[in-house]
Amino acid sequence: MNNYIKVSDITEYLRCPRKVYYAYQEHRPLRTITSSYIASLLLKEMAYEYAEVVLSDNKENKLHELLDRVIIRLPAIYSDEILDIDPQMIQKAATEVQNYFEKIKNGIMESVELFGTQLLLDLIPPHDPEPILYSSKFHFSGSPDRILMLDGIASLSIIRTGTAPETGIWKNDRIRLTALAILVEENSSSTVDQGVVEYSRYGIIRRVKIKRTDRRKVMILMGRIRKIKHGRLPEQAKDAPCDYCVYKEFCHVSSTLASRFF
Ligand code: SF4
Repeated sequence: MNNYIKVSDITEYLRCPRKVYYAYQEHRPLRTITSSYIASLLLKEMAYEYAEVVLSDNKENKLHELLDRVIIRLPAIYSDEILDIDPQMIQKAATEVQNYFEKIKNGIMESVELFGTQLLLDLIPPHDPEPILYSSKFHFSGSPDRILMLDGIASLSIIRTGTAPETGIWKNDRIRLTALAILVEENSSSTVDQGVVEYSRYGIIRRVKIKRTDRRKVMILMGRIRKIKHGRLPEQAKDAPCDYCVYKEFCHVSSTLASRFF
């Protein structure tokens, strides 16, 4: 599967195409672990268990229980990144997560009202280990955060830990969801026409249609990523997030004029 690209490459490409280039040049990312980064990991792990919050009569207590549980699990799950992390940083991250408890609780209660308890539980079922799916047709791979069965048809969800839009889902989330939907289709032999994005910081669950225009975009982006993988240095994104980029130490080279045409 060496020639396969990853759905996470598409996500990175949308942030800045050069990040994909440096990843394939095997530059080791220089990640600085911050308490906010740890908080986002905690929120993601908690979201896998939000079904328990839906069913609980004391949602605030249940959130505290989930947080305690994932704090213990985190070093084992992310052992490559945070094994020796300072306990004070974990504590700071936990406080950041606790500050969102009210929003998470309200978001989950609104989701119960919107979908009803049973459908909501179908949208956020208790977590199974994320499967890695492969497309032999298009040579890419990825892991949905959950595989779902909605109305008897395979579907999927992704969990995001950043901010949520007022309505709908962010463009980059739509592209990621669509790429993963294509993988689920190939592995389930059925058409995936909808998916779910969970904004775990707010307890918001958004159910969306998979659009043809986004499928087309995924195919175009995969073609561009393949060229980068084969050595083309792309232009940086106009609003590239350089300040927080794990490759900023390496990113000094300019692309050639010729490279812009391929
Ligand atoms: S430093 Fe900036 S331009 Fe370079 S890869 Fe990172 S985000 Fe892109």
